[in-house]
Amino acid sequence: MTTLSFEFFPTKTAEGTRKLLAVQEQLAQANPEFFSVTYGAGGSTRDRTLAIVEAIQRTGAAATPHLSCVGDSVASLRDLLQIYKDMGIRRIVTLRGDLPSGAGLASSELRYANELVEFIRKETGDWFTLYVAAYPEKHPQSRSFEDDLKNFVRKVEAGADNAITQYFFNADSYFWFVDRVRAMGVDIPIIPGIMPITNYTKLARFSDSCGAELPRWIRKQLEAYGDDSDSIRQFGTEVVTQMCERLLAGGAPGLHFYTLNQAEPSLKVWGNLS
Ligand code: FAD
Repeated sequence: MTTLSFEFFPTKTAEGTRKLLAVQEQLAQANPEFFSVTYGAGGSTRDRTLAIVEAIQRTGAAATPHLSCVGDSVASLRDLLQIYKDMGIRRIVTLRGDLPSGAGLASSELRYANELVEFIRKETGDWFTLYVAAYPEKHPQSRSFEDDLKNFVRKVEAGADNAITQYFFNADSYFWFVDRVRAMGVDIPIIPGIMPITNYTKLARFSDSCGAELPRWIRKQLEAYGDDSDSIRQFGTEVVTQMCERLLAGGAPGLHFYTLNQAEPSLKVWGNLS
């Protein structure tokens, strides 16, 4: 069975939350396994993430908080885990996180995602199904692919049950990554993270910062559309749909959409696949 999940970021205002819940209601029609909500490193969105997670749970859907360790104390992570447990949350996306300045790593009690996975397992046993991040195009701070693959294996050995990848637009990078880690003994599902294409400038900036490659042929085509957002969306839907078809045909266990808090772009791709 193909799994489906959608990711949101926490909103800042009551009006934003109302709109997000309307988006969530639309996306719920696709019957996803869960909706995940990102977490600002260092606890910067702690209350807002918690509020959205609560609001989603109240609708009867499964909410999945992201949790990062860099810059958070062990005591505050423990508190949050207990709150999530009491709310009946059963999944967590477990991350290191990025502090804006890069500061905080040395002074953090838990410095890497594998340490957070270990901590959650120690504190809560098997209560949570844990998802970790995977990087088919290498994490930007890793010294080498080999280091990054070893780090991924470390997270799995620490107790991760599933992985979600950074987004990419080149299916081969996903297949290559999966083959490499399977050869290293990893057998957990590795779910591709999918970024719908809706806006060239934002996508180019975001891709640069997180180390995801926007291939030249896509970049050039998007540039050529200029301000014609209808054409950008149409082209984006086609490109992303074709990549998802290839991923699923090649054995990807599901899709996780980075929705950027919008329903339509993800639903269009999912609708094409269905
Ligand atoms: P790690 O797996 O800890 O790896 C981080 C880096 O450290 C890598 O380069 C790794 O190779 C290296 N490393 C790991 N262990 C060691 C070690 N022992 N010694 C030396 N180097 C080591 N960010 C947020 O702030 N909030 C979110 O909600 C969020 N959600 C995300 C969801 C997904 C699906 C993905 C793919 C990313 C998300 N991110 C989020 C971004 C993520 O936090 C950053 O990419 C961050 O830089 C790395 O997090 P990680 O969990 O992959 O870290």
